[in-house]
Amino acid sequence: MKAEMIRLLREKKDYISGQELCDRFQVSRTAIWKIINQLKDEGYVIESKQNRGYRLVESPDIMEAYELESRMCTKWAGRKVFFKKETGSTNIDCKLLAGQGAPHGALAVAERQVSGRGRRGRGWESPAGESIYMSILCRPDFPPDRAPMLTLVMGISVAQAVEKYTGLPAKIKWPNDVVVNGKKICGILTEMEMGLETKEIQYLVIGVGINVNNEAFPEELQDKATSLFLESERGGQKIYRAPLVRHVMEAFEKNYGLFLRTLDMSLLRDVYNACLVNRDAPVKVLDPKGEYTGIARQIDDAGDLLVETEDGEVKKVYSGEVSVRGLYGYA
Ligand code: ATP
Repeated sequence: MKAEMIRLLREKKDYISGQELCDRFQVSRTAIWKIINQLKDEGYVIESKQNRGYRLVESPDIMEAYELESRMCTKWAGRKVFFKKETGSTNIDCKLLAGQGAPHGALAVAERQVSGRGRRGRGWESPAGESIYMSILCRPDFPPDRAPMLTLVMGISVAQAVEKYTGLPAKIKWPNDVVVNGKKICGILTEMEMGLETKEIQYLVIGVGINVNNEAFPEELQDKATSLFLESERGGQKIYRAPLVRHVMEAFEKNYGLFLRTLDMSLLRDVYNACLVNRDAPVKVLDPKGEYTGIARQIDDAGDLLVETEDGEVKKVYSGEVSVRGLYGYA
C-alpha cells in the first residue's frame, strides 16, 4: 500500500485529498495520516494543506522496496523488491528468495554489501548509501548454455539506462563491465542453479553493482573504477538511484524479450557492438591458457568476442575465464 500511495502522490503532481486516498485504499483517515507521517520521517517531503490534501514535493534517495516499487512500470522485471539495509551479497539473497518461491523478476536490493562479489571469486567494493547493489531473479526455460549471454543482455541494459538517465556515454567492456570515460561504473555477475537430475536451469541470478554517488575509491581501484557522480558535471549534485534502477529494469525487460525470440544475441548484437568500448582497438586477452594481443572486432551471435591477431587469424574469446584489457590501460 505504501508503494501504491507514493506512486499515486507522484503521478498526481498536484494535491490529492485525504478522502480520495481513503477511498482508494479502503482505509481510515487516521491510517492515511499515519502513513503520510511515516513517509515524512523517511525523508519524503510532503506538503499538507487544509481542504486540499497532500502533495509530494520530493522523494529521498533511498532504495527501500516501497520507493523502488512505486517507480516500476515494467510487467515483471523489478515488480517485487526485497530490500535489506546491509547484506553479505545480493546474489546470495536472491538465491535464497528463489528457494522460497519468489517470482521471475524479483529483485534483491541492499544499501550495503559486506562481501560483494565479482567474477572468479573477486570482490566488489560496496560502500553504504552511494551505489546500487541489486540482483534480479530469472526463471527461464531455455537451455543452460544460453545463460552466459544474459550477462551481455544486462550489460546493454545498464549502458542504455545510464545513458538515458544521466546522458553519460556508457560503453561496455566485454563481457560484463559497463564503463564511462574508460573506467568501470558497473560490474555484472550471473550465477545459475541447475536441477540436479533434470540438468535444466532452475533459476538464474544476475547481480548488478553500479557506482552512482561514490566520491572516491580505494587506492587499488583508482585507475579502473569511477562513479556516475564523478563523471557527470552536475555542480556537485548527487544522483537519485531509484529512477536509475527503474530505467535498468525497463531496458532489461525489453532486451530480455528480444533475446528470447532467438535465444542468442542476433537481435541485440548491433546495439552491443555499437557500445563496445574497445571495438577495433588493440586489446590484451588474459586467457589462463596464455595471454595474447589482437584487435577487438565485435561479438558474434553467441556473444563471444572476436579478436583478430597480428597474423590475421580471428580468435573467439569465450566469457567465463577470460578478462580483456585495453593495451594501454583498463578499457
Ligand atoms: P576485470 O574488471 O579485471 O576485467 P572482471 O570483469 O572479471 O575483471 P568483475 O567480476 O567484473 O571483474 O569485478 C571484480 C573486479 O572489479 C575486482 O577484482 C576489482 O578489480 C574491481 N572492482 C571491485 N569493486 C569495484 C567497484 N565498486 N567499481 C569498479 N570496479 C570494482
